Amino acid sequence: MDVKIGTTKITLILGDITEQETEAIVNAANSSLMGGGGVDGAIHRSGGHEILKECKVIRQTLYPAGLPAGKAVATTGGKLKAKKVIHTVGPIWSGGNNREPELLAEAYRNCLALALKMGLKTISFPSISTGAYGYPTEKAGRIAIRAVIEFLGKNAGIEEVRFVLHSSHDLLVYEKELTES
Ligand code: ADP
Repeated sequence: MDVKIGTTKITLILGDITEQETEAIVNAANSSLMGGGGVDGAIHRSGGHEILKECKVIRQTLYPAGLPAGKAVATTGGKLKAKKVIHTVGPIWSGGNNREPELLAEAYRNCLALALKMGLKTISFPSISTGAYGYPTEKAGRIAIRAVIEFLGKNAGIEEVRFVLHSSHDLLVYEKELTES
């Protein structure tokens, strides 16, 4: 489904984030920025070693201790269709009282702000934190959709925000949330 929010289209699809042709795709990375499983593994496998090379430079320069949850950085898209990969770290779910909602919303906002700063108009997100990081999808979906809508209400310039869900269950959860928002 897609919905217009001002001049921006929010699209929800079932698919693989690595195959998206949006100018940016978002990686649900971990703090090390050195790769991992899930989305992270898929992006590094499809995008090739240039991505990891730039991640290493980011670690050596900007974030020697690792990228904190909620922050975002950009690298090349390497061999991917997307020009840029925006790496963010979602919160690890630990019951909901450890700033998880705040950090998850911050991750979405910082990715969008970085895309705007780089002049990118289209961006694809996976469902951050709902895999290895264990965030319940219903709760995460609500925060994701609301954070994006709120950002778009305050900032012009993004043409499409695409959520790429990896299962039909996740797609339904996000669709329900977008319909109700
Ligand atoms: P996190 O560590 O932030 O939880 P994961 O990559 O483990 O990130 O999972 C986030 C979500 O992305 C999960 O719902 C998972 O099923 C989904 N996912 C895994 N691989 C892909 C992919 N190639 N494209 C889109 N979504 C994916």
